[in-house]
Amino acid sequence: MTKDIRTVAFIGAGNMSRSIIAGLVAGGYPAERIIASNPSQGKLDALAADYGIRTGNDNLAAVAEADVVVMAVKPQLMADVCAPIAALDLAGKLVISIAAGVTCERLSQYLGGHQALVRTMPNTPSMLGLGMTGLYASDAVGEADRAFAGHLMAAVGEILWLDSEAGIDQVIACAGSSPAYFFLFMEAMEQGAAALGVKPEDARLMIQQAAIGAAQMVRHNPQLSLAELRAQVTSKGGTTHEAVQTLEQQGLRDSVQDAMQAAVRRAQEMA
Ligand code: NAP
Repeated sequence: MTKDIRTVAFIGAGNMSRSIIAGLVAGGYPAERIIASNPSQGKLDALAADYGIRTGNDNLAAVAEADVVVMAVKPQLMADVCAPIAALDLAGKLVISIAAGVTCERLSQYLGGHQALVRTMPNTPSMLGLGMTGLYASDAVGEADRAFAGHLMAAVGEILWLDSEAGIDQVIACAGSSPAYFFLFMEAMEQGAAALGVKPEDARLMIQQAAIGAAQMVRHNPQLSLAELRAQVTSKGGTTHEAVQTLEQQGLRDSVQDAMQAAVRRAQEMA
């Protein structure tokens, strides 16, 4: 747990804010130093009941009181939500955005030229504390603010600091969008299992356990490359070899590379 305790205001108390708040409080961050501001009362009541944080529906009051402001509304609402906030004195406040596709330059414009900005790109497994977040800090962000932002996002999983904002698009291709690639692969396996006559519930159990097991083997063997891990379970002439050869021949690697480049292109178009 960080010793750097500051008042953090979450502007937008949806799924992602809830996950970060849950992680922070579970990690011992004092709930009374967390404020969530959101229009719908139900989400606020649930957050107050579950985590003991402070809540309200006055964004300006929350920002005025905060040392750190987490902008967590949908990207298309960001300009409108920021407009009244820009009229406040934001000097000394760190603003962290989790909104997809909103560049630091644009966020700074929305906030009347505010410079101390950290842009983050989390992914959906953050909901389980198994997220992967890329972070980029603008030049105006000092070491202590950087460390605080890193601590905040580490509440929902692993973090990776990026040297340039363009790295955010790479994070989108590798981590932001990639849970869906794995879902697609598992879905294809589910269909393959059905074609073999496997019962759907049995297929799901086997596929999910194999995916979790494979991911854990990667995590627990950092000294081995992915190719080495694969080689260890692929004896020549065996069943796995036959299956993997088929995937290779059908162009799996090219498909994956094309998909990741398509994700980057789309991120650039949307920025
Ligand atoms: P969400 O569940 O829809 O949360 C957004 C919240 O913003 C809602 O609770 C909404 O409240 C609130 N809101 C709307 N207008 C507001 C206003 N004027 N002032 C304050 N709050 C307002 O979305 P989310 O999944 O948490 O995503 C939040 C941000 O994280 C988005 O920008 C998204 O791009 C980014 N992100 C999410 C993920 C993910 O996996 N979920 C991954 C990467 C990035 P009401 O419901 O009451 O309208």
